[in-house]
Amino acid sequence: MKTMTCKQLGGACDKEFHADSFEEMAELSKKHGMEMFQKGDENHITAMKEMQELMKTPEAMKEWFRDKRKEFDALPEDK
Ligand SMILES: [Zn+2]
Repeated sequence: MKTMTCKQLGGACDKEFHADSFEEMAELSKKHGMEMFQKGDENHITAMKEMQELMKTPEAMKEWFRDKRKEFDALPEDK
């Protein structure tokens, strides 16, 4: 298992996610983002808008994912 924070994944808080794969990690972060969005959390709404802006450019999105995956791969395993 590895740990990444909401902020590390383009979010807005220090909540930690624990996952075995980057796909799982991205999924957890997305779920949390949606939850916070629905709660009307302003910081997360802003972060999500930025992500949506990024998604308009598939190349930029791909690059973002590649960078985050690298970050994930470089992390040490949780003890
Ligand atoms: Zn968050």
